Amino acid sequence: MQFRNYYRCARCSNEWTDVWSAQCDDDCPHCGARHMSPYKSEDVEEGEDE
Ligand SMILES: [Zn+2]
Repeated sequence: MQFRNYYRCARCSNEWTDVWSAQCDDDCPHCGARHMSPYKSEDVEEGEDE
């Protein structure tokens, strides 16, 4: 089981998604702000292209 996590940076408002095996925090790829929590997560089917 994997999750696609949706993030929105609190510092620069950049939005991005990432696929993880858990609903975990991520760092903003734009400004580098740490530990942004996903505002939404959805299941990813195995084998789905990313
Ligand atoms: Zn940012």
